[in-house]
Amino acid sequence: MKLIILDRDGVINEDSDAFIKSPDEWIPLPGAIEAIAHLTQAGYTVVVATNQSGLGRGLFNIDTLNAIHQKMMHLVKAAGGAIAAILFCPHLPTDDCDCRKPRPGMFKTIGERFDVDLTGVPAVGDSLRDLQAAYLAGCTPYLVLTGKGTLTQEKGGTPPGTVVFDSLKAVAEHLIEQDRLSQAAADIPPKSPQKTETQGADTEPKAKAKAAVKAKLASLETQKPSRSTKKAAASPRPTDIAPKKPRTRSRATTSKTQ
Ligand SMILES: [Mg+2]
Ligand SMILES: [Zn+2]
Repeated sequence: MKLIILDRDGVINEDSDAFIKSPDEWIPLPGAIEAIAHLTQAGYTVVVATNQSGLGRGLFNIDTLNAIHQKMMHLVKAAGGAIAAILFCPHLPTDDCDCRKPRPGMFKTIGERFDVDLTGVPAVGDSLRDLQAAYLAGCTPYLVLTGKGTLTQEKGGTPPGTVVFDSLKAVAEHLIEQDRLSQAAADIPPKSPQKTETQGADTEPKAKAKAAVKAKLASLETQKPSRSTKKAAASPRPTDIAPKKPRTRSRATTSKTQ
């Protein structure tokens, strides 16, 4: 099975620091819908994994998020494509959950749900945390220069093995061409892939895999500036926006922009 994992905002649709709070605010990037359709037609299972802390902040509710995703799915379907699943993290950065990127929780869930080894699976994002989550899950991080992508590239510090493309369209073209070349090289007739036998090959013990992710996460975190360090306020990050949160755990943990 060929799997590809996509971030949503800044990869498929225009990003906004004010969050995407309604279907009307969800505007596809040029060529992105078609790119998903091409990937689908080339045999890819397309899955979206997106941080949606706007839910936790009370900026929109689950019905609105579903409506936004219905719009996305409808456009993709109309173009001849499909999105197999959308995973979202509704939590706030302060919730310390396992699903919010840069943590790889959503990716692991995708791997389990689709029973796919994530090693080398392309994972496309425009923010550093997308690439970090991809890396931690064993995927190949693809940075696109849409959304926050250019800024992410300028800031640097992307995980090892990160590849850079202009857009999701360029990623799709690259992957499809790569598949075509490797298929031609292997001289495999273009048929539906046979189910590969994986029973013999014992998967890595879970504890070991967990420890590896922990070590990777630790190494990534040492590269980050410490929390107390005042960050150059180049652009307000979503995490810096004072949250209007419905389920306040502790008011002291909320931060305000400047
Ligand atoms: Mg994004
Ligand atoms: Zn979460």
